[in-house]
Amino acid sequence: MADRVLVAGAGPVGLVAAAALAAEGIPVTILEAERDLPDDLRASTFHPPTLDMLERFGVVADLIAQGLVCPTWQFRDRRQGAIATFDMSLLKDDTNHPYRLQCEQWRLTRLLRDRLAAHPEVAFRYGCRAAEVRQDDDRVFLTVVNEEGEEEVLEGRFLIGADGARSAVRKSVGIGFEGMTIPELYLTLSTPYPFHEAIPDLASIAYISDPEEWLVLLRTRSLWRVLLPTDPNEPEDHMLSDGRIEERMQQVHPQAGRYEIVHRTAYRVHERVAETYALGRVFLAGDSAHINNPLGGMGMNGGIHDAINLAGKLVQVWRGAELSLMQRYSRQRRKVALEVVQQQALRNRQLLNQRDPKLRAEHLESMRAIAEDPRRHREHLLKTSMIHSLREAEAVP
Ligand SMILES: Cc1cc2nc3c(=O)[nH]c(=O)nc-3n(C[C@H](O)[C@H](O)[C@H](O)COP(=O)(O)OP(=O)(O)OC[C@H]3O[C@@H](n4cnc5c(N)ncnc54)[C@H](O)[C@@H]3O)c2cc1C
Repeated sequence: MADRVLVAGAGPVGLVAAAALAAEGIPVTILEAERDLPDDLRASTFHPPTLDMLERFGVVADLIAQGLVCPTWQFRDRRQGAIATFDMSLLKDDTNHPYRLQCEQWRLTRLLRDRLAAHPEVAFRYGCRAAEVRQDDDRVFLTVVNEEGEEEVLEGRFLIGADGARSAVRKSVGIGFEGMTIPELYLTLSTPYPFHEAIPDLASIAYISDPEEWLVLLRTRSLWRVLLPTDPNEPEDHMLSDGRIEERMQQVHPQAGRYEIVHRTAYRVHERVAETYALGRVFLAGDSAHINNPLGGMGMNGGIHDAINLAGKLVQVWRGAELSLMQRYSRQRRKVALEVVQQQALRNRQLLNQRDPKLRAEHLESMRAIAEDPRRHREHLLKTSMIHSLREAEAVP
């Protein structure tokens, strides 16, 4: 049983890593703290290269069937309306999927779990929380705790910490997680209200800038998601109350009836990157390694790109390559997190909430100019859809 890879966390990143290893015949044990896969509403955007990567697991047709294919996305101004509409079909020579797919992340984890459950080399343990890690030159020893509080030590050749932003694996091996906390809270609301009928030129993904209150509108197959920045000093019971939410939704788009709200969550957002993604036989991927604001949908996508890179190298190490190969995984993916994802997510936030009227006008003009120039339009799409960051990472030695 010790000759296997332990994966802590059955989120999208842990399951993609596990699927990639299992596909190469490497035995994997997946440890999930919850009794079942979490199904809360989190990421819902799949970028083109992520869909290209997921193709090998045979899940993309199902994701598309359960999601919404979005060939365009928009940058808007709350008062002026559409500023720039980006057409992802310009990426047709760069990807098999020249669109963004809107589909909840829990749909991916369920599809992967169903495929992995049938695999003879894959074991799932639910209600099993990774707590403490030790390692020597050949083995990793992971103490896990079950729901009754009973401890057990599992052994593996390697451990992947895909156990989310509060990663016990990262903490236990003492990897730092420096960065900052964004001052505002992010409130996410979902409604069946048909914004696409009420605002006829609205794309299914719209970043809407405003000096007082920017917002994001995202359409999934059955709902619209509304993301609003929120004052952290507002008491949570008020912020999430029916009356306050109705008031804010009417400001987003006034309508005669009341808004039906099917989900509501407020969460704190951080910008942090782990000081290394590889320490001996322990590797970090996904939110355990980096977290950023959700503007641009890069958290889950970047995490899946980590998982594919990590698993590709770990297969080589499993078959005899030097363990130091995993340091290249760390260098490549940390560079993307620090220099691309974090910078782009911060820039997206600045673009949306710019208060200075002159800078605002310049930003809007620059977005218009990018969309109107076919070369710059395509380059912008290569960056925002994360294709560019994958190409840059390949150049890292
Ligand atoms: C409330 C919320 C809303 C979000 N909304 C968006 C959004 O709108 N758009 C967007 O792009 N991104 C969003 N994100 C971020 C996105 O969900 C993450 O980037 C993505 O889930 C990362 O996947 P992951 O597999 O690394 O981690 P996770 O999805 O967090 O998965 C980690 C898994 O590990 C399990 N686990 C935790 N601790 C342990 C342990 N000690 N032992 C074993 N298992 C453990 C957890 O139960 C979970 O199943 C949101 C995140 C949160 C928290």
